[in-house]
Amino acid sequence: MDKKVIIIGAGLTGLTTAYFLKKNKFNNFILFEKEGKIGGYCKTIKKNEYKYDMTGHALHLKTEEIKYFLLEELSLKNELKLVGRESYIYFKNKFVPYPFQLSLYYLDYEDKYYILKEYINTYCSKIKDTTNIKNIKNFKDYCYAFFGKGISDLFMIPYNEKIWSYPAEKLGFEWMGRFVPKIDLGKIIEATLKPIKNDIGYNSQFYYPKNTGIEIIPETIYRKAQLGNNVFYEEVIKVDLNLKKVYTDKSEYKYNILINTLPLNRFLDMIQYSHELKSTITRVLIVEIENLKKEFSWIYFPQKNIPFYRIGNFKKFNSKLNNEKDLLYVEISSLYPMPNNTSKNEIVNELKKIFGNVKVNIVDDFIMENSYVVYESWRKQNLDNVLKFLEKNSIYSIGRYGAWKYDSMEGAMLDGKKIVSQISNNLFEK
Ligand SMILES: Cc1cc2nc3c(=O)[nH]c(=O)nc-3n(C[C@H](O)[C@H](O)[C@H](O)COP(=O)(O)OP(=O)(O)OC[C@H]3O[C@@H](n4cnc5c(N)ncnc54)[C@H](O)[C@@H]3O)c2cc1C
Repeated sequence: MDKKVIIIGAGLTGLTTAYFLKKNKFNNFILFEKEGKIGGYCKTIKKNEYKYDMTGHALHLKTEEIKYFLLEELSLKNELKLVGRESYIYFKNKFVPYPFQLSLYYLDYEDKYYILKEYINTYCSKIKDTTNIKNIKNFKDYCYAFFGKGISDLFMIPYNEKIWSYPAEKLGFEWMGRFVPKIDLGKIIEATLKPIKNDIGYNSQFYYPKNTGIEIIPETIYRKAQLGNNVFYEEVIKVDLNLKKVYTDKSEYKYNILINTLPLNRFLDMIQYSHELKSTITRVLIVEIENLKKEFSWIYFPQKNIPFYRIGNFKKFNSKLNNEKDLLYVEISSLYPMPNNTSKNEIVNELKKIFGNVKVNIVDDFIMENSYVVYESWRKQNLDNVLKFLEKNSIYSIGRYGAWKYDSMEGAMLDGKKIVSQISNNLFEK
């Protein structure tokens, strides 16, 4: 079969691409999806009496473009609500409000003193000599230069080494931008002396569906764009760049333009392009907790001896999802291809130690195979060239996994919209 455009993957990126193709009255395309269902990581699972997203999916909207797309164009204004974040860092058996650097007031005297002393040292040395900023080579250098040794060693470095499953001195810092708020000397001093309003950071408020799980977003895109005839539930196995052909588990298809949203490492394997891309696996446990006294949206765990790096409570996203029950997601990271194999008992015991006298019932335990792409040196040196090589072959690799980057649902929708305007000259009659 000949199709002008083929999209691989019916997650948020692929679906948004399809939506904007249709909006431009272009219908000569298909999407391949290997699962029996659309949505990718934005699916909501129903198991027994429980409903939950694949892990906590909070919708942070920073651009007017995507806000308009979701609220007005897809008419989701009455379906989504704004939710305030209540997040903490579990630190020395205490729940310290997030972000750490604004909550120094809550720490013990020794930690406050150490953090302030190191921050001021770094601050003064930067005034004398700016080379330590110019010489930043990795995440560890970056943290030391902007937060001082105290905040870095007590939180930033151990937490990030856990989530990325990678050493801080080998990890890049290009991803940090809006995800990690910086802070100045005045604020650090103020935050040590008194409790202050901690609503900085990229995720102080987020949107979430009022009545359903996050799946309402991919499902609405699918429905509004009427993609029923465009989505083929087939798994792409191989791509031939010279013949411009996609081979699936059922058939083969010719394309003019190929849009890839599946993980770039898998895609490069399919075209036999050698690479050293690295990513993490997140193991997610869904647990119901009875008798939970602590209220929170999510909590970060920097400790090496606690297996999980973050837990969150779906009840704080939408309490109707599970009739006011406390249903938690527990996230554990490992470097691909080795999934984490901590025993369920150990995880349950850890939760009991943290939350006291609670009853824990494990509802689900699964893995998200490509979770965080690791910003390491091979990526830094080769990614641009790989993407350019693909473009020369009429292949656009987009989205968090296709373009191999740290990004959000909003980023997925932006990428889908952007690629359609980029290729529009070749496709639509003006
Ligand atoms: C642990 C975790 C937490 C997150 N939390 C948030 C959050 O709070 N807020 C937020 O905004 N974002 C969050 N994200 C990011 C968000 O999930 C992604 O940005 C977004 O879902 C990516 O969509 P996508 O379509 O690019 O990829 P995916 O959702 O991965 O979709 C790719 C699709 O391709 C299909 N596919 C794969 N291989 C093949 C094949 N061979 N043939 C055919 N189809 C194939 C897959 O089945 C899938 O449906 C989180 C991600 C993770 C991992």
